[in-house]
Amino acid sequence: MAAVRDSDKAGGPRPVQRLEVALPVPLPQTFTYLHLPGEADASRIVTPGDLVEVVFGRRRSVTGLVVAATEPAPPHDAAADAPGDGEPRRLRDITRVLPPEYRVDADRRRLADWMAGYYALPLGEVLPLFHPPNPGTAVGKGGRAAPVRYPTVDGEITSLTSAQAVAVTDGRRRLSERTFSAMLLHGVTGSGKTEVYLTLIAAALEAGRSALFLLPEIALTPQTLSRIAARFGDRVEAIHSGLSAGQRCRVHEHAAKGVTRVVVGPRSALFAPVRDLGLIVVDEEHETSYKQDEKPRYHARHAALVRGRECGALVVLGSATPDLESLANARAGRYGLWELPERLGAPMPTIDIVDVRGGASPDGLSPALDQALEETLARGEQAILFYNRRGFARSLQCSGCGAAAACPDCDIAVTYHVRPRRLLCHYCGHARPVPTACEACGHTTFLPSGAGTERIELHLQGRFPQARLLRLDRDTTSGRDSHHRILGAFARGEADILLGTQMVAKGHHFPGVSLVGVLAADDGLGIPDFRAAERSFQLLSQVAGRAGRTGAGRVLLQTWQPEHPVIVAAAAHDFAAFAATELELRRQLGYPPHRRLARIGIAARRQVDAAAAAGALAAALREGFAGTPVTLLGPAPAVFERLMDRYRFQILLKGDLSLSRKAWVAGCLRSLAASFPGVDAMLDIDPVSSY
Ligand SMILES: [Zn+2]
Ligand SMILES: [Zn+2]
Repeated sequence: MAAVRDSDKAGGPRPVQRLEVALPVPLPQTFTYLHLPGEADASRIVTPGDLVEVVFGRRRSVTGLVVAATEPAPPHDAAADAPGDGEPRRLRDITRVLPPEYRVDADRRRLADWMAGYYALPLGEVLPLFHPPNPGTAVGKGGRAAPVRYPTVDGEITSLTSAQAVAVTDGRRRLSERTFSAMLLHGVTGSGKTEVYLTLIAAALEAGRSALFLLPEIALTPQTLSRIAARFGDRVEAIHSGLSAGQRCRVHEHAAKGVTRVVVGPRSALFAPVRDLGLIVVDEEHETSYKQDEKPRYHARHAALVRGRECGALVVLGSATPDLESLANARAGRYGLWELPERLGAPMPTIDIVDVRGGASPDGLSPALDQALEETLARGEQAILFYNRRGFARSLQCSGCGAAAACPDCDIAVTYHVRPRRLLCHYCGHARPVPTACEACGHTTFLPSGAGTERIELHLQGRFPQARLLRLDRDTTSGRDSHHRILGAFARGEADILLGTQMVAKGHHFPGVSLVGVLAADDGLGIPDFRAAERSFQLLSQVAGRAGRTGAGRVLLQTWQPEHPVIVAAAAHDFAAFAATELELRRQLGYPPHRRLARIGIAARRQVDAAAAAGALAAALREGFAGTPVTLLGPAPAVFERLMDRYRFQILLKGDLSLSRKAWVAGCLRSLAASFPGVDAMLDIDPVSSY
């Protein structure tokens, strides 16, 4: 280094470094840039792991990862370059080197490499997960993100139950071994999983290590967040979408410097650069929001296990209704198992199945549920009503010809909303005024068909005019902090009924709720996806778990399928029975956890283009996989054949895909894009839905 500075002072040619940089572009290669270590704003010698900003094509500032760097050397060795074609080409200089807090090295680099290989993506395409947007623009000096304002839950647990103590003792032992292990914490709703997490976080901190705490959706879990904040104070920071880029940078830098020791957040928090990571908690590990549904399509639970493995950490996956793949892993001995089979302080609620065949009211409340609600309100207790459709009606049908208003871009019915009054597509957001006459036949009267939360709200207002009612769905939570406002008001007893979509099912602790009513318990069973039964069981168990946290609780499941095994198992709190039936079905059909899946989606504006590309791709893949254990299904039109003005086809691959096979498939998709302009193709490894 001394020699470099000397040559600078002498005014001679300045030594440069030649860098190989991975960039977030869909190309399977690195890009060469130059770096002059003497520059004032980039005085460091760059080494692999540094993040740099570069100009790429028309993009003026792209963040890239240095994967190789030469020693500083005189420019004639490095600056002019074009291997193979003889004609020298001027390489570009990087714009700047980011501070050391942004380096991607050690366990995070190994995680990035694993993700690139496993999900068959160029390294640069997973890179944006590892740094905040606009890295290096932290705002505020040391001032932290505002603490979470939310009433802390009364009756905090002070002593552990014997089941909790078993988990905590074993967890402490595993932490002290400083080697990777994975545990499934299977605890029924209200059994005190959070206390186990918090005790283990404290143990990790005592040992001088850090912890990551992943939650499915931070806006819906303010209570867990405030408990963590109350316990660990200024050693905790949260990462979430409500933070500005500058605030995210600050959390990132605090973690890298070791100032922040616990980072809490949704799946993106997994990549925080905390020092000496000892514990990763994945709460509600079965939640599908851990899977990112855009590129890079990774699963945070899987990635958490890899990061834990790479840094010798304990990974705890917690749920009342574990994902069947996690359960299979625990049974196969790949994870250890901790069980919390009993609720703290109260028995599990009783669950009654209400058969509504032949007698369903359009407003969705059976006489049994109506009566239970009346009694609950008369006793001054709270109730939760769950109906998983927002809007007023699922569709608006012409009473002349029966045509239902459809989205012009998605070919599916638009939902009728009353406040504000409009037709809305729940897939693409297309909105239009309610027509005055049918577009097909000119008839001027319409029938709202199928209920939504707005319609049920209207019914409840008429039926129970004295009751204070809150509605929680995507329409009532579009405003900032609206989740907090609604959940907080209900937790404080400022409302009698909370009506909503699956948002009401999350891990809320409402001490005053004695009744939970599920209006259409079989609603999710008809979804054409092999996981429909599992999702339904999880959702019913979660929402039922809100009842009777501090006393007797009652749950009514209204259903048109009272004998369905999922409904029966949910009503009996029988996870084991559900899992046994479902795992056997999966084995017969060759679905996860027995076989792995990969899904390829092909989409184009014109149906013929999508069909031709899908056919060509399927033929190439069939030939490539001939004689291997990989089975190919399709191509077939997707369940929703046209969304956002694009026709969609899909191909499913069943079986274990090696890294080289995945890379080969990714290569096939790239050549497909080249030979079929206007066609998009995407590869989804371990998809959470099969359509
Ligand atoms: Zn009509
Ligand atoms: Zn649409």
